[in-house]
Amino acid sequence: LLSPDGGLGVTIFEEMTTLAVAKGAINLGQGFPDEDGPAEMKEAARAAIQAGANQYAPGKGFPRLREAVAAHQERFYGLTPDPDTEVIVTTGATEAIAASLLAFVQPGDEVLTFEPFYDSYGAIIAMAGAKHVTAPLAAPDFLPDLDALEDAFSNRTKVVLLNNPHNPMGTVFPRDVLAKVVELAEKYDAIIVSDEVYEHLTFGEAHIPVTTLPGAAERTITISSAGKTFSFTGWKIGWLSGPAHLVAAARTVKQFLSYSSGTPFQEAVAIGLGLPDAFYADIAATLKEKRDILAAGLREAGFGVYVPGGTYFINVDAATLGITDSVALARRLPDLVGVAAIPVPVFCHAEGAERTRSLLRFAFCKKTALLHEAASRLATLQ
Ligand code: PMP
Ligand code: GLN
Repeated sequence: LLSPDGGLGVTIFEEMTTLAVAKGAINLGQGFPDEDGPAEMKEAARAAIQAGANQYAPGKGFPRLREAVAAHQERFYGLTPDPDTEVIVTTGATEAIAASLLAFVQPGDEVLTFEPFYDSYGAIIAMAGAKHVTAPLAAPDFLPDLDALEDAFSNRTKVVLLNNPHNPMGTVFPRDVLAKVVELAEKYDAIIVSDEVYEHLTFGEAHIPVTTLPGAAERTITISSAGKTFSFTGWKIGWLSGPAHLVAAARTVKQFLSYSSGTPFQEAVAIGLGLPDAFYADIAATLKEKRDILAAGLREAGFGVYVPGGTYFINVDAATLGITDSVALARRLPDLVGVAAIPVPVFCHAEGAERTRSLLRFAFCKKTALLHEAASRLATLQ
């Protein structure tokens, strides 16, 4: 079995959700919305099931969805991937990440991520037999030091696994950081795998796909998912796009991970990707309001609050309450006050865990009444 930072065993999300359910706590741990996405998408999935769309989809996904992904890339970013050779559908972003890394990385290669990092990265890097090298994101902005980033590269760096906007820290990376990543990836001839599942969930700064930077497109795979944009995390429909030779390699691996992905949901997600700009503006605006409600509540409760530029997540420093061990706090919090959260050190290796020892992540993709209730429960900690 791998160690927790290698990822196998029960994930922190599973552990905290189970604890929240057992204790009847408000679950601000695992990031999933408590309201469904667009009704027309649900109707489309239902209609597809009724119409018999219940057997295997083509391995690379239905043409309609691949075309919708390409049209979305053009509408928002001016990109023009060929839906036939430069886009595949995956079983969530999770499979897209796994297929990309297993396709590009050999045992002994290095994979570079920022730290903290989303939990599946550590596990997949370990499964690929690669070495996980990290560059820290530090408070208060959770941006990398560009010299430290350069130091983290080596001739063995095969993949830079970027996550923008960033889970768990909520950073929306500015152009200069992305440009440095591209410059270093070119210098060390590394592939960029960019997980952009929160691309539409930003609250000010516009999301910049790294592949749009000069020199990036030929070496970048971009990953996204219907889970976050459309609030259907359980549908597990994702996609990846990039140059045909990289997409073909990821597709080869994908064939033997899941072969194909949820047939009736593909039509529904294609409809979602075609929704008007107002839909996309609205999900970001709604989420921004929720962010602000929870941020204010957490401040009231005495936490040091880091307001994120994007994602579902706010991080707090519990040290302002005299609490320095967020892992212990997260395990007790459901019992203490009836709220569940995720400790940030679980997204780190040992050194990073020490640096983030008192940080705790709360998800705000929940009904506003629940956010208010959680905040008032947390206020009793003081
Ligand atoms: N990447 C990041 C950064 C995430 O936060 C998540 C969780 N939603 C995923 C990937 C997984 O996405 P999916 O559910 O589409 O597999
Ligand atoms: N991405 C979600 C989070 O960070 C959880 C996904 C999962 O449970 N694997 O909370």
